Amino acid sequence: MSTSNSSQALAQVLSNLADESIKVVDLTNPLGEDTPVIALPPEFAQSPPFSREVISKYDEKGPAWYWNTITVGEHTGTHFDTPSHWVTGKDLPNNTLDKIPAQKHVAPVCVIDTSKESAADADFLLTPEYIENWEQTHGRIPAGSWVLMRTDWSKHIGGETFLNLKEDGSHCPGPSVECINFLIERDVIGFGAETVGTDAGQAHLFEPMFPCHNLIHGAGKFGLASLCNLDQLPPTGAMLITAPMKIVDGSGSPVRVFALTPA
Ligand code: MN
Repeated sequence: MSTSNSSQALAQVLSNLADESIKVVDLTNPLGEDTPVIALPPEFAQSPPFSREVISKYDEKGPAWYWNTITVGEHTGTHFDTPSHWVTGKDLPNNTLDKIPAQKHVAPVCVIDTSKESAADADFLLTPEYIENWEQTHGRIPAGSWVLMRTDWSKHIGGETFLNLKEDGSHCPGPSVECINFLIERDVIGFGAETVGTDAGQAHLFEPMFPCHNLIHGAGKFGLASLCNLDQLPPTGAMLITAPMKIVDGSGSPVRVFALTPA
């Protein structure tokens, strides 16, 4: 596309945003003290919940201003996983938040609706067969796309069924090992979920365990966890803007995710 064509294209997008024929959908959950945090087996270090301390609030410590110090794990609430988050991605180039090129933070998105199956079975797994069936209707997943698994699980936030912890651990839907290998073959930019992490609740039992960490980060791809409002997105045709903090050597961060969608 020539410079003048791309200028016109961007002007058209801005015009469509102004008249709301392109909508901006916020896929981000509010981040606060009540934000659920993943629970690891007790032998491992735990990520703390979000907390804050007031520095000053229009008082003697700062009469005209309000600000807080926040404490938050990098993988809390709606958040972005970099390849460096998993040992399989630790030696890849540009694998931390400060090194990912800005151009990678804007990408097309495919949304695969498994909400019915996930409501019927908390351990529902997305498979290559399910995606191939989706592709028959919506076309092949383009390289460089995000694939988001819609489960409507975000609607469980605030209740015990979000983490859905049982004696044998968490029970939440997610991708199978074969699904992640299939998405790597499709050369997606990353995989996103509505659950507390990108992997299924029982993914510690998979081989390899946690495939949406082990395999996807080993392939240099990203993750998005704890998304919401996926029910407002079309299966294809939307654009995702992911903006995590630019933490030096950061493995991940709370992220603001916007989707641009046709109204
Ligand atoms: Mn994470």
